[in-house]
Amino acid sequence: MKHIIENKLFAVINAIPNPIIVISCDKLQSVNSAFLEFFDVQFIEEFNNVHDCLAKLFVENNNSFTLSNVPKSQYWTDYLFIHPEVNRIVSIINSDNQMIDFELTIKKIENESEYIIVFNDITQFISEKNEYKYFAYHDHLTKIYNRQIFDELFLKEIENKKRYNDPFSILLLDIDYFKKVNDNYGHYIGDLTLIVLTKLINKDLRINDIFARWGGEEFIILLPRTEIDIAYTKAQEIRALVESHVDKELPSITISIGVTEVNDFDTTKTCLERVDKALYLAKVKRNDVVKVI
Ligand code: GH3
Ligand code: MG
Ligand code: MG
Repeated sequence: MKHIIENKLFAVINAIPNPIIVISCDKLQSVNSAFLEFFDVQFIEEFNNVHDCLAKLFVENNNSFTLSNVPKSQYWTDYLFIHPEVNRIVSIINSDNQMIDFELTIKKIENESEYIIVFNDITQFISEKNEYKYFAYHDHLTKIYNRQIFDELFLKEIENKKRYNDPFSILLLDIDYFKKVNDNYGHYIGDLTLIVLTKLINKDLRINDIFARWGGEEFIILLPRTEIDIAYTKAQEIRALVESHVDKELPSITISIGVTEVNDFDTTKTCLERVDKALYLAKVKRNDVVKVI
């Protein structure tokens, strides 16, 4: 009877898609089918012949657990077991060369020196979490910063200005007659135009410049350590760059830009009102740059 239950249990463990191991010191005692499949081996001996310690395969990935966390005098299994506060996420490269993230569940077998460890695959969860974090700060279409992070960085720059008195300027950009692009070429080409435009402008900016999608076909740039005359020259450079850019797959466009420098009394609101006014004036001619002090 016991024999039949054991056989059934064995079948159940082999049917579980997560790798499961029984390990003593550094030596693997038993593993389930999912483990063998993950490492593309047929028998546990095949694995043990090549790898003296499973944890040597844990690769560093965003603070994941690796052997470097473990004191030399201890086995990684003992260390993890007695330190429940330690992050139990490990990353391993599988036989298809993909990085897989696991969360480990670790149980000690009573009165034995062995542990049962279950490798719960959380790769999907981690990548969704990273994507969620990324798009909290980036625009979905163009992948540049979104308005929310721009607001935060803008506030920080105003604080910095108060402390160190570093000048900085703001550029507000708006594509001219963009509605016509959508009407004449369709929304897909319109979207592509926005993507290509942001790449073109990004290449012309310095690493510390802050470039964000303000909304629709409007963009905003914060130029740190830049006084208004230099900012105006930079805006003219960007305007001319867009005007002269030729892409045979896409319609030509022009942009208008408002420019202002942040002063000692400015809040984000007063500064944005001023740069909006500058853009409004630039729109009189279009394909133009106007600065307002
Ligand atoms: P103006 O020179 O006065 O700025 O004219 P405009 O046509 O650019 O301005 P308007 O505000 O009338 O139209 C903006 C257009 O931008 C309308 C809208 O459909 C388009 N737009 C905004 N966001 C997107 C987007 O994400 N993708 C596409 N394809 N079009 C967008
Ligand atoms: Mg607009
Ligand atoms: Mg426009």
